[in-house]
Order: sequence, then C-alpha cells, then structure tokens
Amino acid sequence: MTHRTAYRTIPVLDQRPGALPVPPGAAGNALASGQTRDTLGRPLRDLRISVTDRCNFRCSYCMPKEVFDKDYAYLPHSALLSFEEITRIARQFVAHGVQKIRLTGGEPLLRKNLEVLIAQLAALRTPDGEPLDITLTTNGSLLARKARALKAAGLQRVTVSLDGLDDAVFKKMNDVDFPVADVLAGIAAARAAGLGPIKVNMVVKRGTNEHEIVPMARHFQGTGVVLRFIEYMDVGATNGWRMDEVLPSREVIARLQTALPLVALEASAPGETAQRWGYANAQGDYDPRLGEVGVISSVTQAFCADCNRARLSTEGQLYLCLFASQGYDLRSLVRTGNADDDALAQAIGNIWHGRTDRYSLLRAALPPEAQGTGARRVEMSYIGG
Ligand code: SAM
Ligand code: SF4
Ligand code: SF4
Repeated sequence: MTHRTAYRTIPVLDQRPGALPVPPGAAGNALASGQTRDTLGRPLRDLRISVTDRCNFRCSYCMPKEVFDKDYAYLPHSALLSFEEITRIARQFVAHGVQKIRLTGGEPLLRKNLEVLIAQLAALRTPDGEPLDITLTTNGSLLARKARALKAAGLQRVTVSLDGLDDAVFKKMNDVDFPVADVLAGIAAARAAGLGPIKVNMVVKRGTNEHEIVPMARHFQGTGVVLRFIEYMDVGATNGWRMDEVLPSREVIARLQTALPLVALEASAPGETAQRWGYANAQGDYDPRLGEVGVISSVTQAFCADCNRARLSTEGQLYLCLFASQGYDLRSLVRTGNADDDALAQAIGNIWHGRTDRYSLLRAALPPEAQGTGARRVEMSYIGG
C-alpha cells in the first residue's frame, strides 16, 4: 500500500489513497464469459489505462500549478505497471468483455516507448477473435513527433485535447505557455499518419473559454475532426471546482445553434458518453460532409446508467468510477502475489460484479451547494480521463 503526499495548498485532499484489497472470489460467479455485468446490469466494455501520472501541461482544471509544483511527489518508476503487467491485466479485462482500450494519463506520450505497449495491446483479441479498438487521449504536444510510430504500432485513432483557438485563452488554460499552433500541428500529423477519426476534446469553463465555442466549431466543421465539448467536472480534489463555472451542454448547443444549425443524431454505441449533433444544410437536414459535434454532459445529465468503463491507474489500481476515492490493488496480484491468469480474471470479475458506482447520478440529486463536495476523490491525472 502506498501513501503519497503532495505539499502546499491542499495537502490532505491530495493524498493519493491506499488501495483496496482485491475481494476474495465467490465461487463460480466471476468466470470470464465476455458477458460480465455489475450490480446495475452494466457490462464491462471500455478500459482506460493511465500510463503515467506526469504531464507537461498544468491545466487549471486538472493539475493546477499550485499543487502540482516541483515538490509534488509523482510515482517512482518502480511503482508504475510495466508494459508486460499492463498487457497481462488488459488480457483478462478483454476476457470479461472489454472491446475498447484508451491509453491516457497524465500525458500518455510522455511514457517512454509507448509504441511497444500499443503493439502488445494490438495483438490482443476478444473472445470472438476480434481486434480491440485502441485509442489514446493526448494534449497533442508530442503528437507531431510521434504520430507515425504510434500508427505503425497499431494505434487506430486519437483524441486530442484543445480548449480554444486563441493563444491567450489556451495558454491561460494549459498554464505552461503552450501555443495552439503546435497542437494543431499534432492534429495534422495524426491525420497524415491515418490516425482517425480524430476527436478533439474541449473542456468548457464558464468565464474562461466559453467565447471559443463557436470559433472552435467553425474551425473543425467539415474537416472530419469531431469536436466534443466537455462540461467542467468536479474530478479530483485540487481544481477548486464550482458549479457556477460549469456551462451546461444545453447552453453550448444553444450558442452553436445561433451560428451553425444543428440536428440531433442517434448515439453511435451503447454507453457512448457524447450526445451527437450533426451540422445541418440549408434544408435543415444533417449533412455528413459538414460533420458533427458532441457534448459530454457529465455534470448536468449523468450517464451512469450505461457506464461500462473501468480505469486502471498508473500503479495498477482498478477504479470503478472517475469519482471513486479508492481503487483495487491489482498490481500486488500480478507482482507480489501468486495469482495465475485465472485468479486474476476471477478477481476482476468479482470486483465488477460488486460494482454499484453512479456518482454523477447521485450528485445530480444533491442541492447545488452540496455538489462537488464530499469524500476525497482521486486525481484525474492519476487514473486517467
Ligand atoms: N493529458 C491528456 C489530455 O489532456 O488529453 C490525457 C489525460 S486528461 C486527464 C484526459 C481528458 O480529461 C482531457 O480531455 C481533459 O481535458 C479532460 N479533463 C481533465 N480535467 C477535467 C475536468 N476537471 N473536467 C472535464 N474534463 C477534464
Ligand atoms: Fe495534463 Fe491532460 Fe491534465 Fe491537462 S488535462 S494537465 S494535459 S493530464
Ligand atoms: Fe461512470 Fe462514475 Fe462517471 Fe457515473 S460518475 S458515468 S459511474 S465514471
């Protein structure tokens, strides 16, 4: 069990929590059938793997500078899961029904030789013999350099985060003076390498980058890039989240509609987090050549009922919810325990069977002044977005 401490502003809340022990197996209920379901009947389809807790940005909503400063105690390399450990664990998740793996962080492209891990994951097959959908979320800063190698290793597509086109706004949000042009160059390199369809994530903070909504939409309309607006969330315990800085997705859509007419589209897959809107032509019909945007309403319209995502932290803890305060210690199972693959699969199955998490639904039922408060939560840079 590892307890780690950040110094300065919010020392108590920012302690990385200790891991929960893996629950003992309940005979026969956790076999890896590809159909594993939790207590609310939700399947296990999507695994997000954080490959590093470090980042070269200091986005104010994720890793604020005042906390993630030079004294911040990041995980030592020995604590990180190795690529072999990640692949071994991922294989058992796939046996339970995972079809999609997203690499994230921190900034995943900071992890050395990430292509080696991608190649290992790309070799996995579902119980039906299908390859996995493998993707990665990145701030784009290293993408221009790495896109071709990532594609060659078996990565299919990328999601790039970009919070505005105006340099002053973007620099204020990344807080390390990183220019927009370099992220756009990363997106262009990803496209040239065939990493598509590309998605761009924009976190919208009321009062900070809301006026970038329409320019961003205009910029990406008709390019094949799917822009998604994400409601600013109360993840972690360090970003000083306030409900009044959340711009609800319905307002985002209303603002877009005044400049660029939209029509609602069907969800592309069960458990899809984004609501899709297509650009309309002069007749008011969806025009696929103009493309689509998405809104991710994690705060104002909880999608817990369909949540099929598990998260594996940088040091091998299994989190069942983005807002959980503790994860289950899979690393000790693969590293120090004697667990064979069957035991590992059984453990994952047992944990998912017992899952009750539905944080956003519960938050929505609280009075506004109580939202975003409560139990300490793990940082997003540690378990991945
Ligand atoms: N560093 C990579 C990046 O920024 O794309 C990957 C990790 S980051 C934690 C994953 C995603 O979470 C990013 O799109 C980021 O914008 C989003 N994110 C981080 N903090 C958030 C918050 N408080 N609310 C909403 N989205 C957030
Ligand atoms: Fe880094 Fe991504 Fe968090 Fe920004 S959102 S600080 S780029 S991990
Ligand atoms: Fe899933 Fe937790 Fe988000 Fe609900 S709050 S959608 S359970 S990650």
